[in-house]
Amino acid sequence: MYIVFLGAPGAGKGTQAAVVAKKLHLAHIATGDLFRRAVEVGTELGKQAKSYMEKGALVPNKITIAMVLEQISAPDSKEGVIFDGFPRNLEQAKALDEAFKKQGKAIDKVVYIKVAEEELLKRLSGRWICRKCQTPYHDVYSPPKVKGRCDKCGGELYQRPDDTVETVRERLKVYFSQTAPLIDYYTKSKKLVEVDGVGKVNEVAKRIVAAVRN
Ligand code: AMP
Repeated sequence: MYIVFLGAPGAGKGTQAAVVAKKLHLAHIATGDLFRRAVEVGTELGKQAKSYMEKGALVPNKITIAMVLEQISAPDSKEGVIFDGFPRNLEQAKALDEAFKKQGKAIDKVVYIKVAEEELLKRLSGRWICRKCQTPYHDVYSPPKVKGRCDKCGGELYQRPDDTVETVRERLKVYFSQTAPLIDYYTKSKKLVEVDGVGKVNEVAKRIVAAVRN
């Protein structure tokens, strides 16, 4: 099963993708996490992606698509994948469709996680991420048991450098101009299911699983 999670920054794609991937035994490909790790380790990919991420802009399609195609050929993607943060524009969506077509595969469902814009801004400020395992936390909505430490692996929590007010504004602008048109693209191919992204993590996860199985 191949599922795309679509939604604005702060809609909960990362949190939900991790939970739902576990429930449905799917691999979780999060392009933002892959880029952040590459930046942290200092690989060539990280060096190429860093300046775009800092500005809240999209990393060029050529780099992003090559990275995702490599990931989907990995053995642990064989049983299915949840794509979190990809595709983010029409060119990426078409590249994924083409690559899948060549392999005799197709996207089964696109889950659009809908959250109002004021709520997105509240969620993006106060967000923390584990440096080691990338688990997300929030000061108000999902605080860690011990301040600054990951519940799962004890790793250090940090705030993303692109979660500042200015960069968040740019990321939302990029989302509405480049990514939101994908809602239409996947509606036309009858793959889109819309899920209300407001509520407790488990409640939203239940809605997503029901929508995917339907
Ligand atoms: P995210 O963690 O999904 O919010 O992504 C963080 C940043 O990584 C984005 O603001 C982009 O700079 C970059 N990024 C993640 N996914 C993509 C993508 N599919 N295409 C281009 N850039 C991306």
